[in-house]
Amino acid sequence: MSSSSGGHGIGMTSARTRERLVQRLAAGGIHNEAVLERIRAVPRHLFIDEALASRAYEDSALPIGLGQTISQPYIVALMTQALLDGSGARRLEKVLEVGTGCGYQTAVLAPLVGQLFTIERLAGLQRAARQRLAGLGLGNVRFRHGDGFEGWPGQAPFDGILVTAAPADVPPALVEQLAPGGRLVIPVGPAGNQELLRISRHAGGVEREHLSWVSFVPLLEGKG
Ligand code: SAH
Repeated sequence: MSSSSGGHGIGMTSARTRERLVQRLAAGGIHNEAVLERIRAVPRHLFIDEALASRAYEDSALPIGLGQTISQPYIVALMTQALLDGSGARRLEKVLEVGTGCGYQTAVLAPLVGQLFTIERLAGLQRAARQRLAGLGLGNVRFRHGDGFEGWPGQAPFDGILVTAAPADVPPALVEQLAPGGRLVIPVGPAGNQELLRISRHAGGVEREHLSWVSFVPLLEGKG
């Protein structure tokens, strides 16, 4: 990173710096153009502490306080692509996200789906994310302070569910809240040994695909 200016200075947020990140993700196998365009468009530096803003367009996870992290851009892109790919020309109308955190994944995904419902267990993080996303003009997002293990029963079924923290096992409520043809993208397993799965619900049952090995904070029971 060549920029040395502090705060939200020009160098670190320049089009060129963002483009370098997009090229890196494309080289790493992100082929969905709509996803790459969102990575290009979303100002990731606004989702993290100013002290870390110079690292916003590096392809790494960063701390956001309260022991939580902003996900690595490659993983955000991979999960978004896994959710969208294979749905053909059909737009995913209702999508649930578990683990809003700072709201970066929410911002990447929201314009690519009809309506995005997002759950966060920590009220402080959720409040900040809500403000940021409103500031970016993303109007199709609904927020809930709650426990993502339970999903969002009042809004189910969902065409897609994306989980950004790792439980030990796939929460049954989330599979139950998938519409027929819907898919769930979720990291599962203990720290140091988590796999990213795509679980698709068909008339005949449930299909489970391995996507990658990953490292997420744990999905914790109950509200914070
Ligand atoms: N999506 C974020 C990363 C979130 S980190 C991004 O784009 O960078 C994971 C988040 O999941 C944390 O904010 C954590 O508080 C939240 N979380 C953990 N367990 C949860 C649960 N049971 N329900 C809802 N949110 C949960």
